[in-house]
Amino acid sequence: MKKSGLKTILVTGGGGYIGSHACKALADAGYLPITYDNFVYGHQSAVQWGPYYEGDICDRNSLAEAFELYQPEAVLHFAAYAYVGESVINPGKYYRNNVVGSLTLLEVMRDYGVKKIIFSSTCATYGLPAYSPIDEVHSQRPISPYGASKLMIERIISDFEVAHDIKSISLRYFNAAGADPAGKIGEDHNPETHLIPLLFNVALGRTPAITIFGSDYETSDGTCIRDYIHVADLADAHLKALLFLEENMQSQSFNLGGGRGYSVIEVIREAEAVIGKKIQFNFGARREGDAPILVANSNKAKEMLSWAPNFPELKDILRTSWKWHSKNL
Ligand code: UDP
Repeated sequence: MKKSGLKTILVTGGGGYIGSHACKALADAGYLPITYDNFVYGHQSAVQWGPYYEGDICDRNSLAEAFELYQPEAVLHFAAYAYVGESVINPGKYYRNNVVGSLTLLEVMRDYGVKKIIFSSTCATYGLPAYSPIDEVHSQRPISPYGASKLMIERIISDFEVAHDIKSISLRYFNAAGADPAGKIGEDHNPETHLIPLLFNVALGRTPAITIFGSDYETSDGTCIRDYIHVADLADAHLKALLFLEENMQSQSFNLGGGRGYSVIEVIREAEAVIGKKIQFNFGARREGDAPILVANSNKAKEMLSWAPNFPELKDILRTSWKWHSKNL
């Protein structure tokens, strides 16, 4: 009972941070994104570019009803729990939702003959880097249940290709940051645990200081190094991955990052420069599950998807984030 002439794409987690930006990119490219979200962490207010169906990825009947109703051509699968620290404390929650939910989704795809999936994977599947920057052939030995849950899903997806001919692109994101440059949506987690929004909360006087998790890593200043990539660039990569699948029907995995690492202290300094204000911080213990350095080699995505970040500079990423944060939250 499809209602529109547009190609419909089911977007699980379309009410979330990266999912909602991907819906915008899909709509801009002429697709109809159908958000499938239980709105536990996602927001109905972020669903602005197509209808939504409220449901859980672990709920087979509800998924089947959404497939029946919208007959999607492909699935963009964002829905997941994604707090690295929490996954160490409560691994069952992560394996149940992320792994069992994804398995249920794949089985419903199989039942409805949907053969294309773009999967939100993560650099956390790599674990401790044996070399840096990390490319796609780097060993995958995750050090957190979150990373392990995502790697399990990558493997299940591969097995579903062999058995059921479902083609996939796994996009291994590094650190998503920033907000829609037009200011319509942004990063709004509850609870918020991510570095950049927390820094802005300090700048806006909502919290007194940020605690840096660990100052004794083997890095230039002892704090963790991460590779920050603009959420609109991630969204664009999903669109390009979908076009790639439509043209080639060939499964692939791609890293998505900017290729440059920033320590936590460097991010704080850049944020201070963007907003023209000091941000108070103190040092605390390391956070379980954190790798010291995660920097991407994204050459494969550049070559095969013709993708490149439009926001290569951290200060520009921070600017979009600050604009949204200071106006909306
Ligand atoms: N971080 C920190 N204090 C915080 C939140 C994060 O020092 O309150 C650090 C964290 O240890 C990591 C980096 O900032 O090295 C980015 O963390 P975030 O949670 O934003 O993303 P993740 O790397 O977990 O995907």
